[in-house]
Amino acid sequence: MTANDDAFARAQAALPGGVNSPVRAYGSVGGTPRFLVSARGAYVTDVDGREYVDLVASWGPALLGHAHPEVVAAVQTAAARGLSFGASTPAETELAELVRARLGAASGVEKLRLVSTGTEATMTAIRLARGATGRELVVKFAGHYHGHSDGLLAEAGSGVATQGLPGSAGVPAPIAAQTLVLPYNDLAAVEAAFAAHPGRIAAVITEAAGANAGVLAPQPGFNRALVELAHAHGALVILDEVLTGFRVGPAGWWGLEGAAEGWAPDLFTFGKVIGGGMPLAALGGRAALMDQLAPLGPVYQAGTLSGNPLAVAAGLTTLRLAEAEVYAHVDAAADAVAAAVSEALAAEGVAHVIPRAGSLFSIAFREAPVRDYADAKAQDAWRYAPFFHALLEQGVSAPPSVYEAWFLTAAHDAAALDRILRALPAAARAAAT
Ligand code: PLP
Repeated sequence: MTANDDAFARAQAALPGGVNSPVRAYGSVGGTPRFLVSARGAYVTDVDGREYVDLVASWGPALLGHAHPEVVAAVQTAAARGLSFGASTPAETELAELVRARLGAASGVEKLRLVSTGTEATMTAIRLARGATGRELVVKFAGHYHGHSDGLLAEAGSGVATQGLPGSAGVPAPIAAQTLVLPYNDLAAVEAAFAAHPGRIAAVITEAAGANAGVLAPQPGFNRALVELAHAHGALVILDEVLTGFRVGPAGWWGLEGAAEGWAPDLFTFGKVIGGGMPLAALGGRAALMDQLAPLGPVYQAGTLSGNPLAVAAGLTTLRLAEAEVYAHVDAAADAVAAAVSEALAAEGVAHVIPRAGSLFSIAFREAPVRDYADAKAQDAWRYAPFFHALLEQGVSAPPSVYEAWFLTAAHDAAALDRILRALPAAARAAAT
């Protein structure tokens, strides 16, 4: 028995499924999840001392690579001054100002509220949209994941997709009924929903680019038309950039698309990279809307650890270091790995497409492009488990589900990329059998 096997056995007796977040359990790929003890740059190390090139990046946050020395130093300095005050700090304002500056005036982000998780950010954004509009219904798209609050789990991506669940037990039917789930990239379905529920839809929430049912990029013009349609019906748009924000570009997916096309949502949600690997997330929008949050307005939201000084230090330092070269490097690394994955699978005659959104990509074992959740599910998903394990055996840790995006970082240097590229042919052979 390896130390890793032992760690998993003990964990299963103490934690449901041996994990604290479902996808970590390797449910869809089988085998024993790796228990990690450290992470540095592009590598993670498990309890048996085995080192892997990491393509999970903590599910997105580690844009600079793991344990970037300046980020670690900033957190250590903050820790020495006190772990949590339960009072405001100047650094929280600095982080809000930095985010505002990076997005620019056209984004409409004038004020932010810092929270601890992406789930809280989207949950609060929805409460705020309901409070501001006096309406109750929310539109979300099948296969999009916005965290695990009750109303947002219907046909959700990420672990819900991995486990093949329609939603979650424990969500009361009247709450589920407040969420209208529509096919992604289908404007006619959105129009029909507004027509069927006149004056009742508070908000449309959408991932800026879908990345939780594999990568599901928005069709050109979809986000823009969504904003126009929602506004024409008096509803707000919540652009969920928890995953894409500050990862696919300096101003997230909106910076790549909305800034160029001249549209903006009413609220943004951020998470992952904004906290640089610490628990921090945020929502932001125009002052008039954000000021409806307590203490100025009637929409309540609070958090003992909101704006935690260690998390803010990690986020501030990460964003300051995330300059144009970082994004250029991550884009180039993603290009290289995505091309090599495709080449290896093609060489083995395995039907596949590589859905892509900026530096994010995933594999779909099918021939036709993937536009929505139904497409994402219509693939030879079983091919992913042998592919994944062949990579793992060769020291490459890909996401343990075909429905998750692959994450490159600024620390994926030539040596790390070389290890991935050398591992791919055997993985593709495994996928072919
Ligand atoms: N929104 C999106 C787009 C996400 O990808 C996630 C997490 O993966 C969330 C929200 C939830 O964030 P958290 O896991 O921090 O609660």
